[in-house]
Amino acid sequence: MNQANERLHSVRNRIAEACKNAGRPVASVKLLAVSKRQPAAAIEALYALGQTAFGENLLQEAREKQNEIGLPNLEWHFIGPVQSNKTRALAEHFDWVQSVDREKILRRLAQQRPDHLPPLNICIQVNIDRERQKAGAEPEQVAHLAGRAEECPTLRLRGLMCIPRLTEDVMEARHSFRAMKLLYDELVRAGHALDTLSMGMSGDLELAIEEGSNMIRVGTGLFGARPASRAC
Ligand SMILES: *Cc1c(COP(=O)(O)O)cnc(C)c1O
Repeated sequence: MNQANERLHSVRNRIAEACKNAGRPVASVKLLAVSKRQPAAAIEALYALGQTAFGENLLQEAREKQNEIGLPNLEWHFIGPVQSNKTRALAEHFDWVQSVDREKILRRLAQQRPDHLPPLNICIQVNIDRERQKAGAEPEQVAHLAGRAEECPTLRLRGLMCIPRLTEDVMEARHSFRAMKLLYDELVRAGHALDTLSMGMSGDLELAIEEGSNMIRVGTGLFGARPASRAC
């Protein structure tokens, strides 16, 4: 088995084990491969093994790889901070934007999504631990944003995404994930047809799955350590 294959198997095993412990079906958790700072060849290698959803956090880097790759049925997720001058390219070249955190971005993505494409899938990013420097809507703003998103026919609101505070403290991490699940359940109860709670990464995917995540975003676990800056 080559290394990509080994890593993919190991992540899939971790997902399966976590689902088993949580009493959930394995198919209830979707795996997003976070390919930031990885070369196009690494994406192609995973694609060849059946992984089709990839996440990027820098627009220009992602566009270069998209142009280089050109495989069918590859699903591109944007997971980085969104500046308003980048929304057009995101609306044109991505299937998902998981990091929508304010109304202006929502409106621009809706206006700029080309008519010939299906609605753009979006998640509202939540600053669940209310960190000062971090992107994401405040928890109180989420219901309002969700309402606005659903008014836009060119958008399809799929759910919520978060990047909790980096911590070694399992209880604290669990608390953040649990707060996200509560927020998600509230929106569902309020009538939003959501199916995506995007939380959990290489280091904490088991905990996230235990607390109800149904999409984990895994980078280093699938690709190994990222180069410090992009390989040229
Ligand atoms: C980099 C990144 C990940 C993946 O992190 P790993 O620890 O490498 O698995 C997940 N989500 C977001 C938003 C990221 O930027």
